[in-house]
Amino acid sequence: MTEAHQQIVAACHRLAAEGLLIGTAGNVSVRVGDRVAVTATGAVLGELTEDQVVEVDLDGRQVGGSLVPTSEVYLHLSIYQKYDVAAVVHTHAPVSTAASISLGSIPVIHYQQLLLGGDVRVAPYATFGTPELAVRVVAALEHRAAALMANHGAIAIGVTLDKAVEHALLLEWLCTVYRDAVAMGKPATLSRKQQEDVVAAAIARNYGTVQKAGETE
Ligand SMILES: [Zn+2]
Repeated sequence: MTEAHQQIVAACHRLAAEGLLIGTAGNVSVRVGDRVAVTATGAVLGELTEDQVVEVDLDGRQVGGSLVPTSEVYLHLSIYQKYDVAAVVHTHAPVSTAASISLGSIPVIHYQQLLLGGDVRVAPYATFGTPELAVRVVAALEHRAAALMANHGAIAIGVTLDKAVEHALLLEWLCTVYRDAVAMGKPATLSRKQQEDVVAAAIARNYGTVQKAGETE
C-alpha cells in the first residue's frame, strides 16, 4: 500500500497547486484489492504527508495508520461497492462548487466533456458524511466519471488515481467554460448525433493517448 500512499500525496499536492483543494476541504482515496487508502480528516491536503493517509477495509474498519479517516469515507466506500474504479477524488473546487449551488446539471457543451460520460448531474443535497449523501452521489455517477454534489462540491472517479485527478481537473475546466458561456449568451449544446460522431472519431483516432508520428493514418 506504500505506493498508494505516495500516489495520494502526489495527487493532493497537484490538485492543491491547481487550486482544486483548499485547506482541509476535500479527500482522496485509492483502492488496492480489499483495502482503501484514504486521506485523514483535518489534513491540509496541499501539504499532505504519507502518514496522513490511513487505510480502511471495504466495510470501513481501520486497518492502517493512526489518524482518523476523512468524514466522507462512507462516500468513498459506497462508490467502490457500486463501481469498478480504483480511485475517488472529492473537492470543493471553486467553480465546480459554484455550479453545484446554481445548476441542476451541465448539458453537453463540448466534446471533451464526453470523457466524463456526458451531461454532468448534480446529486441532491444531503449533510456531509451521511449515508444519504453517499446514495445520492453514487446514483449521480452512473455511467459518469464525475458529478457535482449540490451546495457542496465535486466528485471524480477513475480506474487509476491519475484518471480520477484528470477528471476532477476536466470538470473544473468545464464548469469554468460553462460559466463564461452563460455569461456571453445562450450556450449551444451538442446533439445526440454530434456526440455519437465524437465517440466514433475518438475510437478511430485513439483520441486522448500520446502517439508517435506514423502510428496512425
Ligand atoms: Zn466535501
